Amino acid sequence: MAKGVLAKYKDYLPLTDDTPIFSLGEGDTPLVKSRHIVDLVGCEELYFKLEGCNPTGSFKDRGMVVAVAKALEAGGNSLACASTGNTSASAAAYGAYCGIPTTVIVPKGNVARGKLAQAVAYGARIMLIQGSFDHAMQLVRDLTERHPIVLVNSINPHRLQGQKTAAFEVVEELGAAPDYVFIPVGNAGNITAYWMGFQEAYHNEWTSIRPRMMGFQAAGAAPIVRGDVVTEPATIATAIRVGNPASWDKALTARDESGGTIDMVTDDNIMDAYKMLASKEGVFCEPASAASLAGLIKHAKAGLNLEGQKVVCIITGHGLKDPDLANEIEPVWMEEYPPDLDAVEQALGLG
Ligand SMILES: *Cc1c(COP(=O)(O)O)cnc(C)c1O
Repeated sequence: MAKGVLAKYKDYLPLTDDTPIFSLGEGDTPLVKSRHIVDLVGCEELYFKLEGCNPTGSFKDRGMVVAVAKALEAGGNSLACASTGNTSASAAAYGAYCGIPTTVIVPKGNVARGKLAQAVAYGARIMLIQGSFDHAMQLVRDLTERHPIVLVNSINPHRLQGQKTAAFEVVEELGAAPDYVFIPVGNAGNITAYWMGFQEAYHNEWTSIRPRMMGFQAAGAAPIVRGDVVTEPATIATAIRVGNPASWDKALTARDESGGTIDMVTDDNIMDAYKMLASKEGVFCEPASAASLAGLIKHAKAGLNLEGQKVVCIITGHGLKDPDLANEIEPVWMEEYPPDLDAVEQALGLG
């Protein structure tokens, strides 16, 4: 039976004897060692943390399981979130598993098809808002303030508690924290959670190293980099299409305390990294996730010396989340043949 984040990390999470323990199999995701891109960026070791292997296909499940368990413990019987897609998929799945209704408020037309399909399949109530993610976020804040509905966005502190367990896993697997962590930044909850996790690992003496946190926004949705709210954020990487991040200040703290950076990458950089991850390493992620590798390549090209360094890129979500974008990749080799062995052999030069 899947152990999951609650059972495995109960001593490090804000749980009580009354917190229900359950799992859809979240956490314990693979840390895959790079065999090709490692040479391109010139570091000692490069790893990809495959958070797309969580039950609903993104890291959101780690935090959601804690948020929903705490909601149930407090007697909550209904969930709500605003979402660029993955939070809604995750909330809807845990809501279904726990038998409570979930309302998801999403920006109309700005959610990848796979994610919306998940929310539909899990049976959530879906409200498409004629506005941006930031509008949806404000609505859900107001809604949950006025009514007994539990807010499960990452401003719910239990979410970040659950998400920090990914940092624990990296430390456990490598035997210490890496020197650098590259991670996409949208609402900035995840970079905050990882930094929290690495700090705790350090204080628990599981590692004597704390990584530099290297966060990346998309150039068309880079409020933290630009130092100002972006009213109409635009990027193909819908999971990080956020103009006014909820954890803005905490992300700056993570950056400054760790000696890292928060920078931006263009959509072209993201697409190049997205295709490279799949074709060179066998890792198919959603575009937002590729912002981590795009950031690593950008900084390596700009002269960041990674010799002797261990680097981890956080691959936040699965490639099948966004099938429309995936279909835009030009097939390297795709041709049509009659059902005839001769024709196939001939085409392969075996005839
Ligand atoms: C939510 C999400 C992000 C952004 O994480 P934040 O905590 O909002 O910064 C990045 N990638 C994927 C796939 C996501 O689902």
